[in-house]
Amino acid sequence: MSDPTPPDMRDWGLVTPSELERIVIVSPHLDDAVLGCSHLMSAHPGVTVVTVFAGRPDAYPLPMERWDSLCGFVDGDEVHAARRAEDAAALAVLDASPVWLDFVEHSYLPRADWTHPEDVVDTLVSTIEALDATAVFVPFGLANPDHDCTHDAAMLARDRLAEDAARDAIAQGSIGPESIAWFCYEDMGYKHIPGLLAWRIARLFRRGLWPTPAAVPADPDPARKQASVDCYPSQLRALEAEWRVSDKLAAPAPEQHWRLAPPPPGWERLSD
Ligand SMILES: [Zn+2]
Repeated sequence: MSDPTPPDMRDWGLVTPSELERIVIVSPHLDDAVLGCSHLMSAHPGVTVVTVFAGRPDAYPLPMERWDSLCGFVDGDEVHAARRAEDAAALAVLDASPVWLDFVEHSYLPRADWTHPEDVVDTLVSTIEALDATAVFVPFGLANPDHDCTHDAAMLARDRLAEDAARDAIAQGSIGPESIAWFCYEDMGYKHIPGLLAWRIARLFRRGLWPTPAAVPADPDPARKQASVDCYPSQLRALEAEWRVSDKLAAPAPEQHWRLAPPPPGWERLSD
């Protein structure tokens, strides 16, 4: 007797091992990937974390910028040397490695000089291509302008890479290279702001990229996550002051990864 269950329904939510062969996590700041994806990294040694806003401003403001003050930095500190060292140590705990891009956080810049997604997309595409990623995890991009910019730049990169893959396929007369699997992770701290995660999911849903929770194999070891998070003492001071991060880590608020994919054929009208 044949199995009466349609095979596509049985596979919903699952992620194949080949999709997770080479994982790239895109992080807005030097801590967001660890805060949102530690258990993923624990289960998959060799992840690369690409941090977009890891650049040093030309000059640190005097007096010290507010967040950096909350972090405990004082005038004259090389904030980004310290923060990159924290990031390298945190990722080493999870057998992951960093790539640091040189974009400068909005809080150091006058509004007219803020980085836009269009400024980031070329670098992001070439970085993802160089790493030959099979899966890319990006933040939903909530509230903080650097998070928003990172999300939008990643969506532009996704569009570009899909177009390139389709063009290559036509040129080669084949089905082309395996396309990249894309996922969003929840921005730790910001995801608890009322309505914001729902707002982003609704936007993605309407543009035909249905975010759906995926059963990504993970290693939910709270001690290993805490050991990695503890490598960011400067950021933890500010995150505790502004977001009570220790209570959220202790609860814990779970790490959830959402696959971005078009709807099943025939379901598109639900997006209207
Ligand atoms: Zn951040």
